[in-house]
Amino acid sequence: MKIVRFCHEGLEHTGFVESDVVYEGDADGGLKTYRLGDVKLLSPVKPSKAVCVGLNYKDHAQEMGEAPEPVLFIKPSTAVIGPCQWIVKPTCCERLDYEGELAVVIKDDIKNVTEQEAKKHILGYTCALDMTARDLQHKDGQWTRAKSFDTFLPIGPWIETDVDPAAGLELKLYVNGELKQSGNTKDMIFGVDKLVSFISSVMTLKGGDVILTGTPAGVGPVKPGDTIRFVIEGIGELENYVK
Ligand code: MG
Repeated sequence: MKIVRFCHEGLEHTGFVESDVVYEGDADGGLKTYRLGDVKLLSPVKPSKAVCVGLNYKDHAQEMGEAPEPVLFIKPSTAVIGPCQWIVKPTCCERLDYEGELAVVIKDDIKNVTEQEAKKHILGYTCALDMTARDLQHKDGQWTRAKSFDTFLPIGPWIETDVDPAAGLELKLYVNGELKQSGNTKDMIFGVDKLVSFISSVMTLKGGDVILTGTPAGVGPVKPGDTIRFVIEGIGELENYVK
């Protein structure tokens, strides 16, 4: 199932999508329908926090230096935007980078779950961009400012509940139609179950929180006027614009 949040005539709704029809409500209720083209998709989730993992793909880790356990940082909920919305390049940022990432959406509040228990606490998966002010990341020596500007966390288009990243999903990121990143979730150093378990050993994960699982090689800069399109096999595509 593809779970969405959407806006129609100024009102926000939740629902699900099948081909190009949006159903308001859940599969048990019944249901007003809309054409997909007639609604504005929103971020499919409103997380209390996004927990992000640095350097989790073998090729990108070789670019940057590999870590023995997951390196975590947090992006604030205020950075979240939805599909087809604008990423705002801050005036103080010289170099704004895209990082295309598989996002895990947590189903319920959890703490100290094992890797074996992790799956039943995952609602599904979506696409996310970990936008990064690369020059500020280097200048500050830590990542909070560089990763936390408003609009620096596009999420969408929906939460796909019926997909398994462990089976290997292709990720492809395009800037203005040109392929920039190409990876596969099977090349993650720390798999999704490990990440959920590890992060929940540190902090309580709330239902609706998201985990960004790291980005493959090929990160690079964007500038105002650019279009970023990020596609994950079996999930969908997320498009955003830079201004
Ligand atoms: Mg990242």
